[in-house]
Amino acid sequence: KKKIAIMTSGGDSPGMNGVVRACVRMAIHMGCDPYVIYEGYEGLVRGGDLIRKMEWHDVRGWLSEGGTLIGTARCMAFFERAGRLAAAKNLISQGIDALIICGGDGSLTGADRFRAEWPSLIQELEANGEYTAQQLAPYRHLNIVGLVGSIDNDLSGTDATIGCYSALSRICYAVDLIEATASSHSRAFVIEVMGRHCGWLALMAGVATGADFTFIPEKPREDNWREEMCSIVEHHRKQGKRKTIVIIAEGALDRHGNKITPEMVKDLLADKKGLGLDTRITTLGHVQRGGTAVAYDRMLATLQGVEAVKAVLEATPETPTCVIAINENKIVRKPLMQAVQDTKKVAKAIESQDFDLAMGLRDTEFSE
Ligand code: ATP
Repeated sequence: KKKIAIMTSGGDSPGMNGVVRACVRMAIHMGCDPYVIYEGYEGLVRGGDLIRKMEWHDVRGWLSEGGTLIGTARCMAFFERAGRLAAAKNLISQGIDALIICGGDGSLTGADRFRAEWPSLIQELEANGEYTAQQLAPYRHLNIVGLVGSIDNDLSGTDATIGCYSALSRICYAVDLIEATASSHSRAFVIEVMGRHCGWLALMAGVATGADFTFIPEKPREDNWREEMCSIVEHHRKQGKRKTIVIIAEGALDRHGNKITPEMVKDLLADKKGLGLDTRITTLGHVQRGGTAVAYDRMLATLQGVEAVKAVLEATPETPTCVIAINENKIVRKPLMQAVQDTKKVAKAIESQDFDLAMGLRDTEFSE
Protein backbone atom coordinates (compact mmCIF):
# COMPACT_ATOMS: atom_id res chain seq x y z
CA LYS A 1 0.00 0.00 0.00
CA LYS A 2 1.23 3.48 -0.90
CA LYS A 3 1.93 5.63 2.15
CA ILE A 4 1.32 9.37 2.04
CA ALA A 5 2.45 11.74 4.79
CA ILE A 6 0.81 15.09 5.51
CA MET A 7 2.29 17.94 7.50
CA THR A 8 1.67 21.60 8.36
CA SER A 9 4.59 24.03 8.54
CA GLY A 10 5.42 27.71 9.08
CA GLY A 11 2.84 30.03 10.66
CA ASP A 12 -0.47 28.34 11.41
CA SER A 13 -3.57 29.40 9.52
CA PRO A 14 -7.28 28.62 9.88
CA GLY A 15 -8.14 25.78 7.52
CA MET A 16 -4.99 23.72 8.06
CA ASN A 17 -6.99 21.11 9.97
CA GLY A 18 -9.43 20.95 7.09
CA VAL A 19 -6.47 20.19 4.81
CA VAL A 20 -5.23 17.36 7.03
CA ARG A 21 -8.73 15.93 7.30
CA ALA A 22 -9.28 16.03 3.54
CA CYS A 23 -5.86 14.51 2.75
CA VAL A 24 -6.20 11.72 5.33
CA ARG A 25 -9.64 10.72 4.09
CA MET A 26 -8.87 11.11 0.39
CA ALA A 27 -5.73 8.98 0.86
CA ILE A 28 -7.82 6.24 2.47
CA HIS A 29 -10.40 6.58 -0.30
CA MET A 30 -7.62 6.07 -2.86
CA GLY A 31 -6.47 2.90 -1.13
CA CYS A 32 -3.41 4.44 0.56
CA ASP A 33 -2.22 4.66 4.15
CA PRO A 34 -2.15 8.25 5.45
CA TYR A 35 0.44 9.41 7.97
CA VAL A 36 0.77 12.78 9.68
CA ILE A 37 3.98 14.42 10.72
CA TYR A 38 3.69 16.39 13.94
CA GLU A 39 5.49 19.74 14.49
CA GLY A 40 6.31 20.51 10.86
CA TYR A 41 9.87 19.82 9.67
CA GLU A 42 10.90 19.29 13.29
CA GLY A 43 8.84 16.09 13.27
CA LEU A 44 10.34 15.02 9.98
CA VAL A 45 13.88 15.49 11.31
CA ARG A 46 13.23 13.89 14.73
CA GLY A 47 10.94 11.10 13.51
CA GLY A 48 9.85 8.50 16.08
CA ASP A 49 6.35 9.04 17.39
CA LEU A 50 6.15 12.40 15.60
CA ILE A 51 5.23 10.41 12.47
CA ARG A 52 1.96 8.57 13.00
CA LYS A 53 -0.47 6.58 10.91
CA MET A 54 -3.98 8.00 10.79
CA GLU A 55 -7.40 6.45 10.46
CA TRP A 56 -10.60 7.90 9.03
CA HIS A 57 -12.03 8.65 12.49
CA ASP A 58 -8.83 10.35 13.75
CA VAL A 59 -9.75 13.53 11.89
CA ARG A 60 -13.43 13.57 12.83
CA GLY A 61 -14.56 17.13 13.67
CA TRP A 62 -11.33 18.73 12.43
CA LEU A 63 -13.03 21.02 9.89
CA SER A 64 -14.30 23.30 12.61
CA GLU A 65 -11.08 23.42 14.68
CA GLY A 66 -8.77 26.43 14.48
CA GLY A 67 -4.96 26.38 14.26
CA THR A 68 -3.30 23.11 13.38
CA LEU A 69 -3.90 20.08 15.57
CA ILE A 70 -0.75 18.34 14.32
CA GLY A 71 1.38 21.32 15.33
CA THR A 72 3.77 23.46 13.36
CA ALA A 73 7.25 24.81 14.03
CA ARG A 74 10.14 26.71 12.56
CA CYS A 75 12.94 24.17 12.24
CA MET A 76 16.54 25.30 11.88
CA ALA A 77 17.81 21.73 11.39
CA PHE A 78 15.94 21.41 8.08
CA PHE A 79 18.03 24.25 6.61
CA GLU A 80 21.05 21.92 6.98
CA ARG A 81 21.76 18.88 4.84
CA ALA A 82 22.27 16.76 7.96
CA GLY A 83 18.71 17.58 9.05
CA ARG A 84 17.31 16.70 5.65
CA LEU A 85 19.29 13.44 5.65
CA ALA A 86 17.73 12.52 8.99
CA ALA A 87 14.33 13.43 7.52
CA ALA A 88 14.89 11.15 4.52
CA LYS A 89 15.90 8.30 6.81
CA ASN A 90 12.79 8.78 8.96
CA LEU A 91 10.49 8.73 5.93
CA ILE A 92 12.08 5.61 4.49
CA SER A 93 12.00 3.83 7.84
CA GLN A 94 8.21 4.26 7.74
CA GLY A 95 7.98 3.34 4.05
CA ILE A 96 6.85 6.82 2.97
CA ASP A 97 7.81 8.41 -0.35
CA ALA A 98 4.96 10.88 -0.89
CA LEU A 99 4.59 14.07 1.10
CA ILE A 100 1.91 16.78 1.20
CA ILE A 101 2.95 20.00 2.89
CA CYS A 102 0.66 22.84 3.86
CA GLY A 103 2.58 26.02 4.69
CA GLY A 104 3.90 29.35 3.48
CA ASP A 105 6.48 30.08 0.79
CA GLY A 106 9.40 29.22 3.11
CA SER A 107 7.99 25.77 3.87
CA LEU A 108 7.28 25.12 0.21
CA THR A 109 10.78 26.22 -0.81
CA GLY A 110 12.20 23.81 1.77
CA ALA A 111 10.00 21.05 0.34
CA ASP A 112 11.19 21.64 -3.20
CA ARG A 113 14.81 21.63 -2.05
CA PHE A 114 14.23 18.35 -0.19
CA ARG A 115 12.75 16.72 -3.27
CA ALA A 116 15.55 17.94 -5.55
CA GLU A 117 18.15 16.64 -3.11
CA TRP A 118 16.39 13.33 -2.44
CA PRO A 119 18.40 11.14 -4.89
CA SER A 120 21.68 12.27 -3.33
CA LEU A 121 20.28 11.79 0.19
CA ILE A 122 19.34 8.24 -0.76
CA GLN A 123 22.84 7.65 -2.12
CA GLU A 124 24.31 8.90 1.14
CA LEU A 125 22.09 6.57 3.19
CA GLU A 126 23.30 3.71 1.05
CA ALA A 127 26.96 4.77 1.29
CA ASN A 128 26.61 5.07 5.08
CA GLY A 129 25.39 1.51 5.19
CA GLU A 130 22.05 2.57 6.71
CA TYR A 131 20.15 0.74 3.98
CA THR A 132 21.06 -1.60 1.15
CA ALA A 133 20.47 -0.71 -2.51
CA GLN A 134 17.72 -3.32 -2.56
CA GLN A 135 15.96 -1.78 0.44
CA LEU A 136 16.19 1.67 -1.13
CA ALA A 137 14.98 0.58 -4.57
CA PRO A 138 11.30 1.57 -4.02
CA TYR A 139 12.31 5.00 -2.70
CA ARG A 140 14.35 6.44 -5.56
CA HIS A 141 12.01 9.40 -5.93
CA LEU A 142 10.14 11.54 -3.48
CA ASN A 143 6.89 13.08 -4.63
CA ILE A 144 5.88 16.29 -2.94
CA VAL A 145 2.81 18.47 -3.33
CA GLY A 146 2.36 21.85 -1.67
CA LEU A 147 -0.74 23.58 -0.35
CA VAL A 148 -0.61 27.22 0.63
CA GLY A 149 -1.68 27.78 4.21
CA SER A 150 -1.17 31.42 5.11
CA ILE A 151 -3.33 34.22 6.48
CA ASP A 152 -1.40 36.79 4.42
CA ASN A 153 -2.56 35.71 0.95
CA ASP A 154 1.01 36.26 -0.09
CA LEU A 155 1.62 33.60 -2.74
CA SER A 156 1.49 34.57 -6.38
CA GLY A 157 -0.42 32.28 -8.74
CA THR A 158 -3.37 31.58 -6.46
CA ASP A 159 -6.33 33.85 -5.87
CA ALA A 160 -6.52 32.92 -2.19
CA THR A 161 -4.40 31.08 0.35
CA ILE A 162 -5.99 28.80 2.94
CA GLY A 163 -6.75 31.01 5.95
CA CYS A 164 -6.69 34.48 4.44
CA TYR A 165 -10.46 34.95 4.37
CA SER A 166 -10.77 33.78 7.98
CA ALA A 167 -8.20 36.38 9.09
CA LEU A 168 -9.87 39.07 6.98
CA SER A 169 -13.27 38.26 8.49
CA ARG A 170 -11.78 38.46 11.98
CA ILE A 171 -10.28 41.87 11.21
CA CYS A 172 -13.58 43.19 9.84
CA TYR A 173 -15.40 41.93 12.92
CA ALA A 174 -12.84 43.60 15.20
CA VAL A 175 -13.05 46.88 13.28
CA ASP A 176 -16.86 46.81 13.59
CA LEU A 177 -16.49 46.42 17.36
CA ILE A 178 -14.01 49.27 17.54
CA GLU A 179 -16.17 51.50 15.36
CA ALA A 180 -19.02 51.41 17.85
CA THR A 181 -16.89 52.76 20.66
CA ALA A 182 -14.96 55.12 18.35
CA SER A 183 -18.21 56.68 17.21
CA SER A 184 -19.53 57.01 20.75
CA HIS A 185 -16.52 59.06 21.85
CA SER A 186 -15.78 60.59 18.47
CA ARG A 187 -12.35 58.98 18.60
CA ALA A 188 -9.77 57.94 16.06
CA PHE A 189 -8.31 54.43 16.03
CA VAL A 190 -5.13 53.31 14.37
CA ILE A 191 -5.52 49.56 13.86
CA GLU A 192 -2.44 47.50 13.15
CA VAL A 193 -3.00 44.28 11.23
CA MET A 194 -0.61 41.48 10.25
CA GLY A 195 1.39 41.72 7.03
CA ARG A 196 5.12 42.34 7.19
CA HIS A 197 5.62 41.98 3.45
CA CYS A 198 2.13 41.65 2.07
CA GLY A 199 -0.61 44.23 2.55
CA TRP A 200 -3.51 42.14 1.27
CA LEU A 201 -5.17 41.91 4.70
CA ALA A 202 -4.79 45.64 5.41
CA LEU A 203 -5.97 46.70 1.98
CA MET A 204 -8.97 44.38 1.86
CA ALA A 205 -9.91 45.26 5.42
CA GLY A 206 -9.72 48.93 4.42
CA VAL A 207 -12.09 48.30 1.52
CA ALA A 208 -14.39 46.01 3.53
CA THR A 209 -14.76 48.37 6.49
CA GLY A 210 -14.67 51.68 4.63
CA ALA A 211 -11.63 52.79 6.62
CA ASP A 212 -10.45 56.36 6.23
CA PHE A 213 -6.89 55.47 5.26
CA THR A 214 -4.65 52.41 4.86
CA PHE A 215 -0.92 51.82 4.81
CA ILE A 216 0.55 48.77 3.08
CA PRO A 217 4.13 47.69 2.26
CA GLU A 218 3.49 47.38 -1.49
CA LYS A 219 2.49 51.00 -1.87
CA PRO A 220 5.14 53.03 -0.07
CA ARG A 221 3.68 56.39 0.84
CA GLU A 222 4.92 59.57 -0.80
CA ASP A 223 6.59 62.27 1.26
CA ASN A 224 3.30 64.13 1.64
CA TRP A 225 1.49 61.18 3.29
CA ARG A 226 0.93 63.18 6.48
CA GLU A 227 -0.88 65.99 4.68
CA GLU A 228 -2.75 63.50 2.48
CA MET A 229 -4.05 61.45 5.42
CA CYS A 230 -4.93 64.48 7.52
CA SER A 231 -6.83 66.18 4.71
CA ILE A 232 -8.90 63.03 4.04
CA VAL A 233 -9.65 62.55 7.74
CA GLU A 234 -10.48 66.23 8.14
CA HIS A 235 -12.77 66.11 5.14
CA HIS A 236 -14.65 63.13 6.57
CA ARG A 237 -14.94 64.82 9.94
CA LYS A 238 -16.36 67.95 8.32
CA GLN A 239 -18.96 65.75 6.64
CA GLY A 240 -20.10 64.69 10.09
CA LYS A 241 -18.25 61.41 10.56
CA ARG A 242 -17.71 60.75 14.28
CA LYS A 243 -15.14 58.01 13.93
CA THR A 244 -11.80 57.73 12.20
CA ILE A 245 -10.29 54.37 11.31
CA VAL A 246 -6.79 54.04 9.91
CA ILE A 247 -5.59 50.52 9.07
CA ILE A 248 -1.88 49.94 8.98
CA ALA A 249 -0.03 46.76 7.98
CA GLU A 250 2.96 45.77 10.12
CA GLY A 251 5.28 46.37 7.17
CA ALA A 252 4.01 49.83 6.16
CA LEU A 253 6.70 51.97 4.54
CA ASP A 254 7.34 55.38 3.08
CA ARG A 255 8.97 55.72 -0.32
CA HIS A 256 12.44 55.91 1.25
CA GLY A 257 11.96 52.50 2.82
CA ASN A 258 11.42 53.91 6.31
CA LYS A 259 8.85 52.20 8.49
CA ILE A 260 5.58 54.04 9.15
CA THR A 261 4.49 53.01 12.63
CA PRO A 262 1.08 53.18 14.36
CA GLU A 263 2.66 55.58 16.89
CA MET A 264 3.63 57.99 14.09
CA VAL A 265 0.11 57.92 12.71
CA LYS A 266 -1.44 58.33 16.15
CA ASP A 267 0.77 61.32 17.03
CA LEU A 268 -0.25 62.98 13.81
CA LEU A 269 -3.98 62.49 14.32
CA ALA A 270 -3.74 63.57 17.96
CA ASP A 271 -1.55 66.61 17.29
CA LYS A 272 -3.23 69.52 19.03
CA LYS A 273 -2.10 71.96 16.35
CA GLY A 274 -3.64 69.82 13.67
CA LEU A 275 -6.61 67.46 13.94
CA GLY A 276 -6.39 67.06 17.71
CA LEU A 277 -8.35 63.80 17.71
CA ASP A 278 -8.52 61.59 20.79
CA THR A 279 -6.61 58.71 19.21
CA ARG A 280 -5.94 55.13 20.33
CA ILE A 281 -3.90 52.34 18.86
CA THR A 282 -5.24 48.78 18.65
CA THR A 283 -2.88 46.01 17.63
CA LEU A 284 -5.04 43.08 16.59
CA GLY A 285 -2.15 40.59 16.81
CA HIS A 286 -2.84 36.89 16.98
CA VAL A 287 -6.63 37.12 17.21
CA GLN A 288 -6.33 37.43 13.42
CA ARG A 289 -4.87 33.93 13.28
CA GLY A 290 -6.90 32.18 15.92
CA GLY A 291 -10.36 30.69 15.84
CA THR A 292 -12.12 28.54 13.34
CA ALA A 293 -11.96 28.87 9.60
CA VAL A 294 -14.73 30.65 7.71
CA ALA A 295 -16.76 28.61 5.21
CA TYR A 296 -14.61 29.67 2.26
CA ASP A 297 -11.39 28.43 3.88
CA ARG A 298 -13.01 25.12 4.85
CA MET A 299 -14.17 24.66 1.28
CA LEU A 300 -10.75 25.59 -0.09
CA ALA A 301 -8.97 23.28 2.37
CA THR A 302 -11.20 20.36 1.43
CA LEU A 303 -11.16 20.78 -2.35
CA GLN A 304 -7.43 21.46 -2.40
CA GLY A 305 -6.68 18.57 -0.02
CA VAL A 306 -8.51 16.19 -2.36
CA GLU A 307 -6.57 17.57 -5.34
CA ALA A 308 -3.27 17.32 -3.47
CA VAL A 309 -3.71 13.57 -2.91
CA LYS A 310 -4.57 13.07 -6.58
CA ALA A 311 -1.54 15.15 -7.61
CA VAL A 312 0.90 13.32 -5.36
CA LEU A 313 -0.29 9.97 -6.71
CA GLU A 314 -0.04 11.12 -10.33
CA ALA A 315 3.38 12.81 -9.98
CA THR A 316 6.32 11.35 -11.85
CA PRO A 317 10.03 11.99 -11.32
CA GLU A 318 9.90 14.29 -14.36
CA THR A 319 7.02 16.54 -13.25
CA PRO A 320 8.09 19.64 -11.33
CA THR A 321 6.86 19.88 -7.74
CA CYS A 322 3.41 21.39 -7.84
CA VAL A 323 1.39 23.59 -5.57
CA ILE A 324 -2.40 23.47 -5.50
CA ALA A 325 -3.93 26.85 -6.31
CA ILE A 326 -7.33 28.36 -6.98
CA ASN A 327 -7.76 30.46 -10.11
CA GLU A 328 -11.11 31.97 -11.00
CA ASN A 329 -12.88 29.41 -8.82
CA LYS A 330 -11.09 26.41 -10.31
CA ILE A 331 -8.74 24.25 -8.28
CA VAL A 332 -5.56 23.93 -10.34
CA ARG A 333 -1.97 22.62 -10.09
CA LYS A 334 0.89 25.04 -10.64
CA PRO A 335 4.68 24.63 -10.68
CA LEU A 336 5.62 25.38 -7.09
CA MET A 337 8.88 27.24 -7.58
CA GLN A 338 7.40 29.45 -10.30
CA ALA A 339 4.77 30.61 -7.81
CA VAL A 340 7.41 31.24 -5.14
CA GLN A 341 9.64 33.19 -7.56
CA ASP A 342 6.74 35.25 -8.94
CA THR A 343 5.75 36.15 -5.40
CA LYS A 344 9.02 37.98 -4.96
CA LYS A 345 8.32 40.05 -8.10
CA VAL A 346 4.63 40.87 -7.93
CA ALA A 347 2.94 43.11 -5.43
CA LYS A 348 -0.08 40.85 -5.32
CA ALA A 349 -2.17 43.04 -3.07
CA ILE A 350 -2.40 45.83 -5.60
CA GLU A 351 -2.34 43.76 -8.77
CA SER A 352 -4.85 44.84 -11.42
CA GLN A 353 -7.58 46.22 -9.17
CA ASP A 354 -8.63 49.78 -8.77
CA PHE A 355 -8.26 49.98 -5.04
CA ASP A 356 -7.82 53.73 -4.98
CA LEU A 357 -11.32 53.99 -6.37
CA ALA A 358 -12.64 51.35 -3.98
CA MET A 359 -11.15 53.19 -1.02
CA GLY A 360 -12.56 56.45 -2.40
CA LEU A 361 -16.09 55.09 -1.94
CA ARG A 362 -15.83 55.40 1.83
CA ASP A 363 -18.28 57.78 3.36
CA THR A 364 -18.88 61.01 1.47
CA GLU A 365 -15.81 61.20 -0.74
CA PHE A 366 -17.68 61.41 -4.04
CA SER A 367 -20.77 63.20 -2.87
CA GLU A 368 -19.66 66.69 -3.75
P1 ATP B 1 4.85 31.91 6.96
O1 ATP B 1 4.29 32.42 5.65
O2 ATP B 1 3.85 31.77 8.01
O3 ATP B 1 6.11 32.61 7.39
P2 ATP B 1 6.58 29.89 5.94
O4 ATP B 1 6.33 28.50 5.51
O5 ATP B 1 7.04 30.85 4.89
O6 ATP B 1 5.26 30.38 6.66
P3 ATP B 1 9.16 29.86 7.23
O7 ATP B 1 9.51 30.17 8.64
O8 ATP B 1 9.78 30.67 6.14
O9 ATP B 1 7.58 29.88 7.16
O10 ATP B 1 9.54 28.32 6.94
C1 ATP B 1 9.10 27.29 7.79
C2 ATP B 1 10.16 26.21 7.88
O11 ATP B 1 10.41 25.68 6.57
C3 ATP B 1 11.53 26.68 8.36
O12 ATP B 1 11.59 26.77 9.76
C4 ATP B 1 12.43 25.60 7.81
O13 ATP B 1 12.38 24.45 8.62
C5 ATP B 1 11.77 25.28 6.46
N1 ATP B 1 12.42 26.07 5.37
C6 ATP B 1 12.13 27.30 4.96
N2 ATP B 1 12.93 27.70 3.94
C7 ATP B 1 13.77 26.66 3.72
C8 ATP B 1 14.87 26.42 2.82
N3 ATP B 1 15.26 27.33 1.93
N4 ATP B 1 15.52 25.23 2.91
C9 ATP B 1 15.15 24.31 3.80
N5 ATP B 1 14.13 24.47 4.66
C10 ATP B 1 13.46 25.62 4.64
